[in-house]
Amino acid sequence: MSTETPRRTFAIISHPDAGKTTLTEKVLLLGGGIRSAGTVKGKKSGKFATSDWMDIEKQRGISVTSSVMQLLYDNKQINILDTPGHQDFSEDTYRTLTAVDTAVMVIDSVKGIEAQTLKLFKVCRMRGIPILTFINKLDREGKEPLDLLAEIEEVLEMETFPMNWPIGTGKRLKGIYSIPDETVEMYNEDHDRIIKPYKDVTTLEDYERENLEGEISLLEEAGNEFTIEKVRNGSLTPVFFGSALSNFGVQSFLDQFVKLAAEPQARKASGDFIPPSSPHFSGFVFKIQANMNPNHRDRIAFLRVCSGSFERGMEVTLSRSGKKMKLNQSHSFFASDRETVEKALPGDIVGLYDSGNFEVGDTIVGGGPKIQYEEMPQFPPEKFAKVTAKNAMKHKQYHKGMEQLVQEGTIQLYKTPYFEDYIIGAVGELQFQVFEYRMKHEYKVDIDFIHMTHELARWVTKGKITDQMTDSRKMLVHDQQGRSVLLFENEFALRWFQDKNPDISLSTGWEIL
Ligand code: GDP
Repeated sequence: MSTETPRRTFAIISHPDAGKTTLTEKVLLLGGGIRSAGTVKGKKSGKFATSDWMDIEKQRGISVTSSVMQLLYDNKQINILDTPGHQDFSEDTYRTLTAVDTAVMVIDSVKGIEAQTLKLFKVCRMRGIPILTFINKLDREGKEPLDLLAEIEEVLEMETFPMNWPIGTGKRLKGIYSIPDETVEMYNEDHDRIIKPYKDVTTLEDYERENLEGEISLLEEAGNEFTIEKVRNGSLTPVFFGSALSNFGVQSFLDQFVKLAAEPQARKASGDFIPPSSPHFSGFVFKIQANMNPNHRDRIAFLRVCSGSFERGMEVTLSRSGKKMKLNQSHSFFASDRETVEKALPGDIVGLYDSGNFEVGDTIVGGGPKIQYEEMPQFPPEKFAKVTAKNAMKHKQYHKGMEQLVQEGTIQLYKTPYFEDYIIGAVGELQFQVFEYRMKHEYKVDIDFIHMTHELARWVTKGKITDQMTDSRKMLVHDQQGRSVLLFENEFALRWFQDKNPDISLSTGWEIL
């Protein structure tokens, strides 16, 4: 693949079962020069990664790590960053979204917006990432298209602009009408792609034409105004209808995607916006994956290239410490495949071999001024557990392991004034499992977990917490930076606390950074 081809880097966000994997597979099939190791997700297809990544991945047949897939389409190199689904949900899923320029939101037309979509959407909104929407499963009896648009507008507080419009759904699905070019992609059992000008379509009943024309004129009159600026700043989402499984509407989606998706953007670093065209190479580490090969105990730092060009063997500086290093071992990743990368451009993801130099959020620069990309947000954990080492004699390894895994961003660490045990926090259960596994295999420490009933963390931004305000249901802890955090069991406990203590201001982690 040419290194000069323009890049489009995106991730798909969705609730499990909305059709993310199916859509990804169909999109990959449309691209030339597909490179993917065959497992978009192993679990359902029964395929397992051929790599020697963590056993935990093999046992569960899942991809713990977010992999990167590439395809060439319409003279653009499209980088797709996989975000793990629900069971595998972790902070990595959120962090991956910091490395993309566009997100595609897949919504199940039967279910509408679901919990996981909403969570991931919030991260996109916080980062100002443009969102394209694909409403999937048109071959099923879903919600009314107009109701789905209303739901997006109300729940996500974002304008919608349909790019195409279904003619019937479920058993009565006839086709989708492309609004910009007044053509219809006909739905057929064989999944052949047949496109006709609307006026030449003979198979529609009168009522189907009336419905379609009525709805289109309603959209023209009452719909939102489309501007590319609104798409780019995330205030309007172009909406596509289709069925990933039937490969229906997927190609027209991709044709528009390459036009609408944002090119690699200037990113904020040390108070300035660094454009991708800057002559100096720079990038940031958004994820660290350890133990991809247990025989070598190596770690891979995933770097998003932001400016300049990356070349293998180049000398770079780690902004945090000023340490200079040569990047000889760089890889691109296609699920389990590793391939050496010689050159990478803004928008690309490079895996760097790491012997313990990098932390999540690190900036790397090659020449030019020393800059630091915006700090990785702290994502509010939703699961907490008290941990202790089973064998007290192992406390040295225990503390070392804890320190390193926290530094890698595997889990979040909290201390409480009320007892000695550490409290670990995570956004998904999988993080606990990975933590336990790695403590055992890398640091030889067996740990005991006691899951806590708390589900909400709020950072105290104003006021002082006294002993009278807290109890086991609303517990005071301190994060790694020593900030006060209150853990609540549920929304009710949180609201009750806020009513009783109006002088205390609370924030969900990512707002305070
Ligand atoms: P993910 O969990 O979001 O990755 O969802 P998958 O792509 O694995 O799809 C979940 C289920 O929905 C699978 O059984 C798919 O075959 C099915 N599915 C995906 N797209 C469609 C579609 O367009 N129509 C129908 N009827 N089923 C679909």
